[in-house]
Amino acid sequence: METERIVSPEYTPPDGAIELSLRPKTLKEYIGQNKVKENLAIYIEAARTRGEALDHVLLYGPPGLGKTTLAGIIANELSVNLRVTSGPAIEKQGDLAALLTNLNEGDVLFIDEIHRLSRAVEEVLYPAMEDHVLDIIIGKGPSARSIRLDLPHFTLVGATTRAGQLSAPLRDRFGVILRLELYGTEELALIVRRSADILGIAIDQDASLELASRSRGTPRIANRLLRRARDFAQVIGDGAITCKSAQIALDSMEIDALGLDLVDRRVLEMIIAQYNGGPVGLETIAAAIGEETVTIEDVYEPYLMQIGFLGRTPRGRVVTPAGYAHLGLQHPQRQDTQEQIRFAD
Ligand code: ADP
Repeated sequence: METERIVSPEYTPPDGAIELSLRPKTLKEYIGQNKVKENLAIYIEAARTRGEALDHVLLYGPPGLGKTTLAGIIANELSVNLRVTSGPAIEKQGDLAALLTNLNEGDVLFIDEIHRLSRAVEEVLYPAMEDHVLDIIIGKGPSARSIRLDLPHFTLVGATTRAGQLSAPLRDRFGVILRLELYGTEELALIVRRSADILGIAIDQDASLELASRSRGTPRIANRLLRRARDFAQVIGDGAITCKSAQIALDSMEIDALGLDLVDRRVLEMIIAQYNGGPVGLETIAAAIGEETVTIEDVYEPYLMQIGFLGRTPRGRVVTPAGYAHLGLQHPQRQDTQEQIRFAD
């Protein structure tokens, strides 16, 4: 059920072809993330001027913020090929060897969820990233020997939702490490307008702001809400999305004014009802909601923390006074919890 969550930032198959058509192809078209764009523009220009491959780039941040899109933009701006794979898809050393030996000079290899590479595969990656060589073992037992193959100079773009889970030797081999942030409402409204133009959807200015403000800082969700709002506009109106039809669409999907859905509210209500607002450990929250701990950390928490509804303390998560207020509840005003929120990282 949870995979069908409308406000999940994670990729789902129905996003497929449409996401492809909505992906910006150049840095100029890519909205927001100004710091990341400024840095990348300089590195790309420098690599192009020198006629060299770009340094390896690690992109990290919650799902749906545009990491895959940026990998495509990097390849496009450098006029090279993009190869796309993911950590879990590279099961054996041989899988990675096959990918690497098929690259051309300067190509971009994008590995999504790079924190999920196995140790054995990582070990093949180190010399490839550092010295552009591939060490392969031929044969078994005492007759086994290692041969070294030269690889083209390539750029690895790694994406992860959590830089902290990457092994230190892998992280150290990235020359450029960039963190993507959740988007602001104005930026998301621009993304909604841009997507609506591409898809040929008429949308009012205030309707794009309405969709943006309920998209949890995430372009993937903004694009998904746009598609749903179009369905409603076609059925209850003349096809153009107005603020009113957008609100009806969002309300009927039970997405509230801040983009929280039933699951987010269940997380907050559970902490309040069963743990008096917290602190409560991540594992306990995950078990109560029936989700993996990493899903709570990657998918639910970033937004609830960004809007200040959930706080992180040394003893676990707490619902903040703003979180209580959003649910129409009175905060118990416990002094100890307040101090912990203030001093948490
Ligand atoms: P991630 O790899 O971080 O999960 P994606 O790159 O797949 O995210 O982006 C999800 C969708 O959001 C893409 O279809 C893309 O159209 C849209 N998107 C992401 N970032 C931007 C942006 N900065 N400007 C416009 N659209 C964006």
